[in-house]
Amino acid sequence: MENKEKEISRTILAATQKPVVGEAGLTSAWRTEKPVINHEACIVVRKNKEVCHFCWMYCPEATIKKTIPVEIDYDYCKGCGICAYECPHNAILMVDESREISP
Ligand code: SF4
Ligand code: SF4
Repeated sequence: MENKEKEISRTILAATQKPVVGEAGLTSAWRTEKPVINHEACIVVRKNKEVCHFCWMYCPEATIKKTIPVEIDYDYCKGCGICAYECPHNAILMVDESREISP
C-alpha cells in the first residue's frame, strides 16, 4: 500500500475509534477549568430518559457517563470544554478549577 493510502487509512481509523477512559493518562492535571453540570437544565434529567447525551458523545476522553443524571469522572476530565460547547441546553458551565459553585 502506498504511503499516502496508509496515512488516509490511519486518519479514518483514528476518526472512527471510540476513546477509552484513561487512555492519555491522568488528564485531570491538564485542567484549568472544570465542567459543572446544571442538572435542572439538563434535558436528560428533565425528561428522565435518554434523549440527548451529546456531552457523552463528544467528550474526547470518554469521561462522561451516559447515565441519568449525567456524571463526569473528574480524574480524567482534561477541561477542554467541548461538552459545554456542544450541550444544546447550556446545562454545562466551565468554571475556574479553584472555584466551587452550586449549579
Ligand atoms: S449535552 Fe447537556 S442537555 Fe444533553 S445530556 Fe449532556 S448536559 Fe444534558
Ligand atoms: S471538559 Fe467535558 S468534554 Fe472535555 S474532557 Fe472534560 S468532560 Fe470531557
